[in-house]
Amino acid sequence: MDMLRNFPGLIPLNKEASVYSGYINIYNEDYRIHIELFENKTLEDLELSCDWKLQQLLHGYTAILKQRLKQCTSLCQYLLEVKSLVERQLEGRHNSHQGGSSQVCAQLLGEVEHLGWDRLVSIDAKFQTLELQCKDKKGRQHIMKVTLSSQHPRSAPRCVVDLPGQFHVQWKSTSSLECLYKQFESAVYMYQDFIDVMVELDQKTWILEPEKPVYSATYRRIAVSTNASLQISVDHRHPRTLPECRFLGADQAVVPLRESLNSNLHLWDEGKGLLENLQVLLGTQLPSPATSSKEEFSVECGICYAFRLDTELPNQACSDARCGQPFHQTCLYEWLRALPSSRQSFNTIFGDCPYCSKPIKVKMPVKR
Ligand SMILES: [Zn+2]
Ligand SMILES: [Zn+2]
Repeated sequence: MDMLRNFPGLIPLNKEASVYSGYINIYNEDYRIHIELFENKTLEDLELSCDWKLQQLLHGYTAILKQRLKQCTSLCQYLLEVKSLVERQLEGRHNSHQGGSSQVCAQLLGEVEHLGWDRLVSIDAKFQTLELQCKDKKGRQHIMKVTLSSQHPRSAPRCVVDLPGQFHVQWKSTSSLECLYKQFESAVYMYQDFIDVMVELDQKTWILEPEKPVYSATYRRIAVSTNASLQISVDHRHPRTLPECRFLGADQAVVPLRESLNSNLHLWDEGKGLLENLQVLLGTQLPSPATSSKEEFSVECGICYAFRLDTELPNQACSDARCGQPFHQTCLYEWLRALPSSRQSFNTIFGDCPYCSKPIKVKMPVKR
């Protein structure tokens, strides 16, 4: 349907619609093209042949078209990109005396060529945003998203990376994509150790927060038992030093963990990874995806029956050992406040557990 509406001059030559032949019209000019999709019909195997005029316009863009083809999900989408590329070329010719946009395109393509096409993950049809990839020493992929300024290369592009700390780009008007890439690569290498220790935690423990850990996140909330978790904040420059630790959960679970941690602090060994050190200090193995399911540790709040309330997790728990029911701080506070039997002293409210009626207390949540 889309093909017919966008390219009425292009006709499928067979039932499977794997061969098209005809014309595409760009700026009131017809260009003859012939397209063949092979066997399984994946777009990447597409073969496009066209007349001499169109060939001239697409000259030098073969690699970029191949790259774009990977991002396209339909033939129609791909042809629309070919069309917009040609339109830009034609506009560029009209404006060539002003140094039109096609000149910038050509320069950019030269820079990508120089850098290597395998490092380019994607580029948009307007050639304004591109993603470059770099593999770290463990073969993990890292992406830098680059948005070129309209003054490129006179003013610096905007770069976004998923790495801890700040990423400031050094840029001069003579700089190129390659020097951006070098800065990106050295930042990735600089944080290699941080990434390694965090990924080990992410793979071998249950991370309750962040929901989807990214490389830039320096904190983790790790499940320790069904009613206790440990929140750590890691120094990304010194990832093997003792992180800031905070326990969350029911008192009867948290108190022994805190005692164990404090009395074993001298056992921390910076030659080892975070996971190993934490387990030594806590005197226990942390629950692992290899032996347990996450549901055991993401126990929902006993009042609202959800695990996540905005960004809040159920981090208050009844301290009665047989109950141990977790609650969101906000939920428990609101619940107790509504009961006439509760009493408040400064910012703490005392009442009965909604589950087992044993005494429970909660601090007033800090409004964020
Ligand atoms: Zn709740
Ligand atoms: Zn209770």
